[in-house]
Amino acid sequence: MVDTIEYDLIICGSGLAGLRASIAAAKRGPGLRIGVVSKVQVMRSHSVSAEGGTAAVLFEDEGDTVESHIYDTVKGSDFLADQDVAERLCREMPHEVYQLEHWGMPWSRRKDGRVDQRAFGGYSFPRASYASDKVGFFEMQTLYDTCQQYENIEYLNEWFVSSIVHDERRFLGVTAVEISTGTFHVIKAKACIIATGGAGRIYSFSTYAHSSTPDGLDMAFRAGMALKDMEFVQFHPTGIMPSGILITEGARGEGGHLLNSEGQRFMSEYAPNKMELAPRDIVSRSIMTEIKEGRGLKSMTGADCVKLDLRHVGDETIRQKLGAIREISIKFSGIDPSKEPMDVRPVCHYMMGGIHTDINGKTELEGVWSAGEAACNSTHGSNRLGANSTSECIVWGRITGELAADYIKAGVPQVEWPHHMVFAEEKRIYDGIFRGSGDANPYEVRQTLTDIMNDHAYVYRSEEGLAEGLRELRELRTSTWSHVDDKADEYNTNFVNVMELDSMFRIAEVVLVGALGRKESRGAHAREDYPMRNDDQFLHHTLAYSGPDVPVMTTSPVTITNYQPVERKY
Ligand SMILES: Cc1cc2nc3c(=O)[nH]c(=O)nc-3n(C[C@H](O)[C@H](O)[C@H](O)COP(=O)(O)OP(=O)(O)OC[C@H]3O[C@@H](n4cnc5c(N)ncnc54)[C@H](O)[C@@H]3O)c2cc1C
Repeated sequence: MVDTIEYDLIICGSGLAGLRASIAAAKRGPGLRIGVVSKVQVMRSHSVSAEGGTAAVLFEDEGDTVESHIYDTVKGSDFLADQDVAERLCREMPHEVYQLEHWGMPWSRRKDGRVDQRAFGGYSFPRASYASDKVGFFEMQTLYDTCQQYENIEYLNEWFVSSIVHDERRFLGVTAVEISTGTFHVIKAKACIIATGGAGRIYSFSTYAHSSTPDGLDMAFRAGMALKDMEFVQFHPTGIMPSGILITEGARGEGGHLLNSEGQRFMSEYAPNKMELAPRDIVSRSIMTEIKEGRGLKSMTGADCVKLDLRHVGDETIRQKLGAIREISIKFSGIDPSKEPMDVRPVCHYMMGGIHTDINGKTELEGVWSAGEAACNSTHGSNRLGANSTSECIVWGRITGELAADYIKAGVPQVEWPHHMVFAEEKRIYDGIFRGSGDANPYEVRQTLTDIMNDHAYVYRSEEGLAEGLRELRELRTSTWSHVDDKADEYNTNFVNVMELDSMFRIAEVVLVGALGRKESRGAHAREDYPMRNDDQFLHHTLAYSGPDVPVMTTSPVTITNYQPVERKY
């Protein structure tokens, strides 16, 4: 039986973007009923694990400027960012830092009481506001606390949203499975904000929470919206071995060095001015080049790595400013960073791509906005600078929350409810996925899928490797993975895994097809067979639409306002 509930606004995702959007919408439309739906408990959203900082210009009196933040972001993006969008991020962020402070955010401070900022990769000025090395946890806590002031925000925790209901033109609702009971629900609403976060769990070596799978991207894709720039996947230089847990860029911001097997600070060869604080794409490529040329080391599992050395930073600073990474290093690798260097290598950390939106976060389906990592409004182009993502979540959380509230208040026409769409989704889930059968173990298939992505679409890519990855992925899809052996209704994690895997196949394919099509090297997308950036042919965004068999690829232009593309040097 289908259970139906109604809201004015439904927000999918309760990370930084979703919570900031809910506050903005609740403030703008005090009478609106707002539902925030999340497949995990609010404080388990991946945003809580953001470590290092949130970028904003706060010290204009000491020489920093918003123009410099804009230029650093555009240069960091390898000139694929839409420059009007990057400008909006940088202009709106300082206000948001103080807004968070007024809501109770415990920013780390200077001795004079002002909000402190630390150095981060690719910036011309220390610009990352931080709260020790737990910035995301404290931001989430601050926003969630603030949400409690609004009685019109309701939470549907541990509900898995599976599809968007629409009439080809306009948003009408979503379908969702309540994980604690297995009940299939229809949530009717006038508008929706998709804030379902990044999808980095399509890689096996990844800093993300295990829930960071592409279900949100996939439901937009299946509803006819484009995914943009999905070939650009960020590999953070310092995933600790063997787990891949993130060691924040703040560790290098506080003075950490990267060393090869000869004990050299090899970044002097690749980015002599910025050294370890060059943007992430450059540092990750430098590490992989060192490894390829025989100057890497072997970690405890035998995998290649380099060293991140914090010994000279000193125990006191490490405890005070990098307490979480100290704990991670001791607990998960048995290394005290004040005594020994850590083993690190590049790890999947962020998706520059996402649901195609305009500068306001508006998607191609009327009534749907998208914000945060799920969205691609083209702030980051082909490579995001560290600390700019939490900023983006907060800025576009606010923008989309306000715009969605305005849209609802202006009056949304009633249209006939497309019952056939809900029946089709119920059939897809319960007759297809839930009652399927087969020998292939979906957990093993998930592991194989994520290994394929790691093996073939990692820091360096090639035609041969990507084509092989696509072939393996498509072959894997034909195995009998689509079944749920546990038939229980309550907390069926087996079922959730298969639902996630279903979306992973489609979105991993979009990443590989996009990467094959982009025959150049730009930002995080480094092709060994096309090592140069090619602005004549590829200074455009990639769009992928769902097709009957394979994704349908097209392009859209990049907005250039003040900064003509030049060679990136650091
Ligand atoms: C380890 C780590 C450290 C980081 N550190 C920094 C940093 O220091 N500075 C910085 O700027 N950025 C950092 N980032 C990046 C940044 O934290 C993320 O990009 C950002 O927090 C994403 O927030 P979000 O609101 O878009 O989504 P998330 O916080 O990922 O939340 C996604 C939400 O969507 C929900 N959801 C997903 N699918 C479904 C579904 N099918 N049904 C229902 N709900 C669903 C989830 O339950 C969750 O609530 C870091 C990322 C990682 C992984």
